[in-house]
Amino acid sequence: MGRREITRRDFLNGTRIALTGAALSPWVELFGAPAPAFAANDPFPPALTGMRGSHDGSWEVAHALVAGRRFEAGAAARHESVDLVVVGAGISGLAAAWFYRKARPGARILILDNHDDFGGHAKRNEFEAAGRTLIGYGGTESIDGPASYSAVAKELLRELGVDLEVFHQAFDASVYESLGLSVGVFFDRESFGVDRLVAGYGSLPWPEFAARTPLSARACADLVRLHTESRDYLPGLSRDEKVALLEKTSYEDFLLRHARVDPELLRLYRGMSLEYLALGADSFPAYWISQEPFLPGLEGTLVERARPEEPYIFHFPDGNASIARRLVWSLVPSAVAARSAEAVLLARPSYGLLDAEGAPVRIRLSSTAVAARNAADGAGVDVTYVRDGVVGSVRARDCVLACWNSVIPYLCPELPDRQKRGLAYGVKAPLVYVNALLRGWRAFVDAGVQEIYAPNETYSFVRLDFPVSLDGYRAPKSPDEPILLHLVHVPHHPETPGAEQWRAGRRALLATSFASYEAKLREQLGRMLGPGFDGDEAILAITLNRWPHGYAYQPNTLWDPPWASEAERPWVVGRQRFGRIAIANADAAANAYTDAAIDQAHRAVGELLAGASR
Ligand SMILES: Cc1cc2nc3c(=O)[nH]c(=O)nc-3n(C[C@H](O)[C@H](O)[C@H](O)COP(=O)(O)OP(=O)(O)OC[C@H]3O[C@@H](n4cnc5c(N)ncnc54)[C@H](O)[C@@H]3O)c2cc1C
Repeated sequence: MGRREITRRDFLNGTRIALTGAALSPWVELFGAPAPAFAANDPFPPALTGMRGSHDGSWEVAHALVAGRRFEAGAAARHESVDLVVVGAGISGLAAAWFYRKARPGARILILDNHDDFGGHAKRNEFEAAGRTLIGYGGTESIDGPASYSAVAKELLRELGVDLEVFHQAFDASVYESLGLSVGVFFDRESFGVDRLVAGYGSLPWPEFAARTPLSARACADLVRLHTESRDYLPGLSRDEKVALLEKTSYEDFLLRHARVDPELLRLYRGMSLEYLALGADSFPAYWISQEPFLPGLEGTLVERARPEEPYIFHFPDGNASIARRLVWSLVPSAVAARSAEAVLLARPSYGLLDAEGAPVRIRLSSTAVAARNAADGAGVDVTYVRDGVVGSVRARDCVLACWNSVIPYLCPELPDRQKRGLAYGVKAPLVYVNALLRGWRAFVDAGVQEIYAPNETYSFVRLDFPVSLDGYRAPKSPDEPILLHLVHVPHHPETPGAEQWRAGRRALLATSFASYEAKLREQLGRMLGPGFDGDEAILAITLNRWPHGYAYQPNTLWDPPWASEAERPWVVGRQRFGRIAIANADAAANAYTDAAIDQAHRAVGELLAGASR
């Protein structure tokens, strides 16, 4: 039982990657071997387990392009003609197609994406267990702070039938509350002298929580002080002086130098921001906590909320993959058999119909764009792409690049150098989202936790799935029912300054095999939950979403220079329209959120339409 029930694909995947990592470099695989049988042929990508996210088969062509390889569409290549070609089937690319069709209902559109599934980071993971389907999210988690969305983004959600009100009922916090579950912290013996899981972070009175930890008396006192006292740690400074100082002081330095906490406490707080920011406490300005107080210590010093407080409940079972699905349902209705927006969640898209001959909108997966060139006569854009090792080309009247900024200079070598530098500026942050299918979750109930923060472990956040029952989907309620466990890994390289740490993290992600992630996951869960958790018995399947190019770059006052104006910001320089090519995607806003992806799509399409009317 148990281990044997890991699906065959899990096992094979882990083994294959391990061997590849040990014996062959990806370059040898890429150049020396025939095209592997990628998962692209699988009829239903969301149900694939093993290594997902930027899965093998999705990244090699783009990396070869960056390494200098050239791809030409020969005379025998497939040549097509459409009104709009979109590179990238993430939320930005799909939204761009949607906005374009809204302005030009008869437009013929081709959307290319290098992955075997649509949605980009908004990725769905599905599992079967005990006769039912469990739906999880492999990337974009929730609609975060929808009240702050632009009018354009709000309107798109409305037109896609997203009713935010339903989440107040659908998100049923009582599922875990009624069992007395809380957030726990795992104190590891390497950092704190003893392995101990302490439940009640944020729910027990702070002195009581502190007393249960293995922290020293001084660190305990400081923990309680940070959470219960509202002191001004920068007395005598004006508001502007405080902002200036906090923008240039890391949160870690603020705690040490101004709040004067015991350094031991930093072992607790160093990683608490990793999931949210992909940065440790050493690498983001303390001012961010003034704007969004998700960590303690600034309450009495400076609070300037950047956006209204909203509950974090706007979560579809597959995260914002539901937004991507609804866009696809609207763009290619024949591929998603759903009578209503609500029915989209449980519909099973026909992947074979996404790219149907003659359809006005076609989504071509497993297809990496390698060039986008304005035609010399100004009549359109020629886009070249590689699919299954074959080079194809398409002539489009307009083109939206809704892919990652970093690849655009390679697709459009004719761009001005300044624009290329702007596009190359923002490094995306790497991270890993894992869904582990558990047979049941009694071990969590016994430990009194629904979520564990493990500051110094590979998976710094481990949580039972969000308790959301929606549109015919029912979240597990009994500890004896199968459930998805969500685990987050963010490589943390505090020794590497600035955004370079993300390049280091990306390399680490690509060099780590599925087998080694899986082994670490089993070991960590066993250590945190103790003998009550038998991984071999409990874990039924694992899907690991690897995102070497994850969150879009967000400007950081600790290391970014002060730009003279908005127009000087590198991503603004980078996103300028180039002939009939416009640039969308979240990178174009330097903002790692769904609404940014939508807003940038709207802007990019607007530029093309305005260009056409001149
Ligand atoms: C793990 C994770 C969790 C997140 N959680 C949240 C959240 O909870 N809430 C929120 O609002 N935001 C969240 N975000 C951010 C959010 O996902 C993004 O802002 C948004 O989805 C980006 O959409 P996009 O279309 O711009 O980019 P992507 O989703 O990255 O889509 C771009 C697509 O273009 C493809 N592409 C790149 N190059 C090429 C090429 N040469 N040819 C063809 N295709 C190419 C990419 O592979 C990708 O599929 C999260 C991001 C990550 C990584």
